[in-house]
Amino acid sequence: MKGTVSQTSLKVGYTADPDRIEQYDIVFVPSGFFASDAYGKKESLPTSPLPKIEGIPFLFGSDLIEKKGSTIVIHADLPASAFCFLSRYEELCHPELRDEHGRFNARWSLLTKNGFLAKPLVDAYTAFIRKLLQETGRQMPTNQGKLSKLWLTHDVDVPFYCQGFRSFAREALKGSGLKKALRLALQKAEADPYYTFRYFFDTDSRAISLCTFPVEGIYFFKAGGNSIHDKPVYSLESKRMRHLLYAVQNEGFQIGLHGSYSSGKTGKISKEKKLLEKAIKENIYSFRQHFLRACEPSCFTQLENSGITDDFTMGYADMAGFRLGTCRPVRWINPSSGHLTSLLLHPLAIMDTTLFQTSYMGLSFDKAKDYCLQLVEQARLHDGELCLLWHNSNISVQACPGNQRPWIRDLYTFIIDHLCDIDPRN
Ligand SMILES: [Zn+2]
Repeated sequence: MKGTVSQTSLKVGYTADPDRIEQYDIVFVPSGFFASDAYGKKESLPTSPLPKIEGIPFLFGSDLIEKKGSTIVIHADLPASAFCFLSRYEELCHPELRDEHGRFNARWSLLTKNGFLAKPLVDAYTAFIRKLLQETGRQMPTNQGKLSKLWLTHDVDVPFYCQGFRSFAREALKGSGLKKALRLALQKAEADPYYTFRYFFDTDSRAISLCTFPVEGIYFFKAGGNSIHDKPVYSLESKRMRHLLYAVQNEGFQIGLHGSYSSGKTGKISKEKKLLEKAIKENIYSFRQHFLRACEPSCFTQLENSGITDDFTMGYADMAGFRLGTCRPVRWINPSSGHLTSLLLHPLAIMDTTLFQTSYMGLSFDKAKDYCLQLVEQARLHDGELCLLWHNSNISVQACPGNQRPWIRDLYTFIIDHLCDIDPRN
């Protein structure tokens, strides 16, 4: 992997060849990671705690920094370290580490073990290199301290609390009374306890008009699935669903595919995409997998082959933070082949369920607020993106199952208000 990366007129080398070093402004000395026979195996990864360079952990090489002529020579193999985080290489090396939903959890990641899940480590590498170059008199571009994009995303797992006859039977069996059960089952879509979309439409539109950076909203809808975790399976052709899909489009928001629980493993992504496209009469380019599962190379390859250009799955369900080690969108690097693809991965920083569910972070409102502000600040510092995921069913204010944390809606309002107030000059 010898060569030069051109960034304006900066010459960056990745070589240990003493005859070539001085032709570069900055050189990273390869640790041998890419050439190792252990590539793709867990033995290729270091154990924690990791070595650090100016307080920043890295995976390979040493913390030696030297000058050769006017060239800065860095012996920490930051390119290989960045590759591992951006491609989720460690997840490939540890197929035995998966939870009951087949997911690699945050608690197993080197980022979490080294205290860097809430700070984008690869972006810290960039800042460190920029500082080194500035110290040697190089003119380097500086960050604006402004988000490059805010993604307000909503997974529509359960569009309605009341699903026709089944809901009628459920309410009747619960003892709600036949009259109430019938009223719940037959009411208009907007009267349903889980129809909180009006709140999202208004709040997200406010962010679009008030924030000083670009904001976009996406609603991810399912289009299939037969696992117990896909329930309720809703028909995109039902009157209420057609009404909802139309409302989302009419409000000017994007619709993306929420791949069903097993779609990544069973090769159903393309089929589900076509079904959703047929229902909305538009092409689909954005994707998120239900339960944030199946981020394996085979799943991403399916996305590419299906015409999906943007994925929003890359966050951990059990802990909010920067799973890719960055808050910037990155083209997916297949860790098996090292191939750089055209699929763009958008880091998912915060999912509502992650914050309150006791099996995940189990935070109180105040703690969740503080933690979210930390992540917002990190993304802002690095001119990165911020992607939020809030579910319509989690913010229902009416008394029904799923509404165990009424503050989840207040937290969303708080974050949006904060983002609308951010002045990039401060
Ligand atoms: Zn989902």
